[in-house]
Amino acid sequence: MNSTRQHKKVRLSGNDDCCVVLCSDCNVLELNLGASTLRISPESLHSLSTILNNAKKKLDQIQNASLLSGSLESGSIKRVH
Ligand SMILES: [Zn+2]
Repeated sequence: MNSTRQHKKVRLSGNDDCCVVLCSDCNVLELNLGASTLRISPESLHSLSTILNNAKKKLDQIQNASLLSGSLESGSIKRVH
């Protein structure tokens, strides 16, 4: 087993909590989410990116729809983030 410490890794995006790191020696991407690390191929990153973008669009549509059909009281809209 090769030590992963010898591999050159470059952070492509994100911060310490959530980031994508490229190991150029393995040509593998590491998706770090908190304590979890997901090792994926560059192809998977493209798929994942598309999937996440679609999920965001759907989520926005669902949330907009529920805002319109829900109560129009301004106080009822809570921003979580
Ligand atoms: Zn590596």
